[in-house]
Amino acid sequence: MTDKIKMSANEALERLKNGNKKYVETGLSNGDVSYSVRLKTSGHGQEPFAVVVTCSDARVIPETIFSAGIGELFVIRVAGNVIDDHQLGSIEYAASHLGARLIVIMGHTNCGAIGAAFHPDDDNKYIRYILHEIRYAIGDETDPEKACILNVKHSIETVEESLEIIKEEHEHSLKVVGAVYHIDTGVVEFV
Ligand SMILES: [Zn+2]
Repeated sequence: MTDKIKMSANEALERLKNGNKKYVETGLSNGDVSYSVRLKTSGHGQEPFAVVVTCSDARVIPETIFSAGIGELFVIRVAGNVIDDHQLGSIEYAASHLGARLIVIMGHTNCGAIGAAFHPDDDNKYIRYILHEIRYAIGDETDPEKACILNVKHSIETVEESLEIIKEEHEHSLKVVGAVYHIDTGVVEFV
């Protein structure tokens, strides 16, 4: 287990909320991507304060919408923000070796993967693996925003069940939260 823990889950959550507020107010990328921080993280390694699991959608830019810079977020992206063993392995690494205490599962409005899950006939060779997972999560729900939240909640459950051991070892200091990013306003709503 790591001795790298620099920020509690609650502190990390506050930082993400403030970072998103700053992004919405300024409409700019406010994270530090300067030469100096690049040099520092190159030498000392990464110490991300949060893990963000989100969709691959090109309109969702985690570092920008949270005003984060180099070395601050451990981002895992996959269409529909679904969770399987590869995502779990990445989360486990960030928690166990890099000290991240907060895990955010973030869906977004107008998600094409959620939309595609409503249409069973659209399955392609590999896309179907993603859509099957989303359909399992959303059941009969047909409202896109409600389905998005159900899908986020299902991913949270998967992470929490799978990371039970890590949670116990850290006396529940690890926290998994859900969020929905509104692609029109730029606001991240924690659910
Ligand atoms: Zn999406």
